[in-house]
Amino acid sequence: MRIGIIGAGQLGQMLGFAAAEIGLDCEFLDPSDSPPAVDCGHVIRAPFDSHTALETLAANCDIITYEFENVPVEALSAIGGRVPIYPPTDALRHAQDRLAEKRLFESLDIPLPGYAVVDCRDDIDEAIDALGLPIVIKTRRFGYDGKGQFVLRDASQADEAWHALGDSALIAEQWVPFEFEVSVIGVRSTAGEVGVYPLTRNEHRDGILHTSCAPVEAPELAALGGSYMQRLLGHLDYVGVLALELFVADGKLLANEFAPRVHNSGHWTIEGAETSQFVNHLLAVCGRQPGPTAVRGHAGMLNLIGEIPTAARELQHGELHDYGKTARPGRKLGHVTVVADTARERDRLLAVIEQCVTQSTRPHGTVP
Ligand code: AMP
Repeated sequence: MRIGIIGAGQLGQMLGFAAAEIGLDCEFLDPSDSPPAVDCGHVIRAPFDSHTALETLAANCDIITYEFENVPVEALSAIGGRVPIYPPTDALRHAQDRLAEKRLFESLDIPLPGYAVVDCRDDIDEAIDALGLPIVIKTRRFGYDGKGQFVLRDASQADEAWHALGDSALIAEQWVPFEFEVSVIGVRSTAGEVGVYPLTRNEHRDGILHTSCAPVEAPELAALGGSYMQRLLGHLDYVGVLALELFVADGKLLANEFAPRVHNSGHWTIEGAETSQFVNHLLAVCGRQPGPTAVRGHAGMLNLIGEIPTAARELQHGELHDYGKTARPGRKLGHVTVVADTARERDRLLAVIEQCVTQSTRPHGTVP
């Protein structure tokens, strides 16, 4: 069976590796010259909305999936009758618009931070009145890794926020003084079989994921997160892997956003779970039963952003994943995963690795 994957970035690459593990072929669509998944299958080099390229992918493949959520829904829908597309485009449509996403959470009784629609400059003042300060103004579409956001701590910043973002459709959100952030990663097959990975704790820096650790040892939160995931998967008649990101505040979960795809906060599952999110996504989309989602001990992941220091290649503990991308500030270039018998040991190893890779200026860093 051949899977057509829209996007050949690092998620496409890890899907490609997983496909090889379970005997599937892949073909990709990506406009880049040398994307990370280039060695995992043929890459059709064309824009994501190229009708001809999508037609070719549909003709060559049995199933189409995607590795990022900004695939144009209209372009995808045009080939929908030709070949199954998973996850369903309805999930994609909701994930592409923060307002539609929030309304979906509300309709499913999934708690979320207070928000207001911002269509004009005066709406910012109204949002401040309704939500209080601080608030965060976000573009409704095409935001990622904290881009397209403006945190307003004082009403006098309203003009600045409007000038920065006002040429896009916006929403305002209450700033949540969260204790920590988590994600729930779930998978659902074409037959409706559901698997949910243990709750993952995430730390972001400058809006970009820095570390992920699983499992979070908080059974009530894990059960709540699991039930929100079940509601989303069922309602969307979902097929594939879905990631839901939430804030933990006052001992409760508040939904931030969801991604209809494999997710950076699930990279630990490659070494740390009985079945990785990548294998499970592929099993689900090709009509097979997903594998078990239990964690093997305690897993942690550290993103390598901007550069992969030499020290990261010399680690005694931890599995380095190098996506083969050109280094650039703020760019996700790779990650390191550790798996340990205890949470304490996992945290110790991650701390040592972090220290090692952040002291990259040392020519020969101490290797943990
Ligand atoms: P997002 O692009 O919405 O996932 O935002 C990126 C990161 O910014 C989140 O993971 C949080 O760390 C932070 N953030 C976004 N929205 C809020 C909010 N309403 N309150 C507090 N932190 C937020």
